Amino acid sequence: RRMMNNMENTLSVKNISKSFVELNGKHLHALDDIDLDVKAGEFFVLLGPSGCGKSTLLRIMSGLEKNYKGKVTLAPGFNHLDFSFIFQQFALLPWLSVYKNVELPLIARNIPEHERKNIIMKELETLGLTRFAHQMPRELSGGMKQRVGIARALATNPKIIFMDEPFSALDSFIAKELRNELLQIWEERKMTVIMVTHNIEEAVQLADRIAVMSSRPGKIQKIVENTVPRPRSLRSQPFFDMEDTLTALVKV
Ligand code: ADP
Ligand code: MG
Repeated sequence: RRMMNNMENTLSVKNISKSFVELNGKHLHALDDIDLDVKAGEFFVLLGPSGCGKSTLLRIMSGLEKNYKGKVTLAPGFNHLDFSFIFQQFALLPWLSVYKNVELPLIARNIPEHERKNIIMKELETLGLTRFAHQMPRELSGGMKQRVGIARALATNPKIIFMDEPFSALDSFIAKELRNELLQIWEERKMTVIMVTHNIEEAVQLADRIAVMSSRPGKIQKIVENTVPRPRSLRSQPFFDMEDTLTALVKV
């Protein structure tokens, strides 16, 4: 389905470097000279150990972080309204119901109310949340909260979804279930996904390509084409081989 060589870049980063000034006044070189091209429709993963700069790079790519050196280029016709985000800690507004949390990005885009309702109900149904529309976030388990996070991200029909460790706060059974659902949604809707993870199995299950990062300063060590055929069995020899390849590359 995906012929990478023929696909256009949807987002490119060139010569990205980023330093933080720490409280003691020292400079921390978080990212050093990062180059990446993300193709339209691909599932692109940033993989690396804690502290290597994954979140910082994702924030720069997505426009949340504006203070950096280098250049981020979007494909013509793209703008930040085409982006959605899914966060590790869900980032739901606790004083709004499930329905109203999903509604927020639609209000921000001036979608009229009668259209909003159809969109929200459709996405709640996609994530199995119809019965929970009028519950409050505090009444939901972590897995259900992240379902709301995903529904909210999908509601705006994004061209790119940025995800920072979206499954790391969940127990492994729930994480597995949500990964499978996300994969199905991505295969149906064909948006671009850019995901941060430190979980090698997750990267091999989901990604088309995996940018392996190394630390201090954060660099792209290698971009690995994930050759495991889809649909992917997590218990197949090609899957194990790809996990081994990545394990050898990731330096903790
Ligand atoms: P990762 O997501 O891979 O764990 P981060 O992008 O969060 O890594 O952080 C990369 C490095 O930059 C880390 O050493 C972290 O401590 C540092 N860092 C991140 N954000 C800040 C900040 N706002 N101020 C100072 N240092 C930061
Ligand atoms: Mg991080």
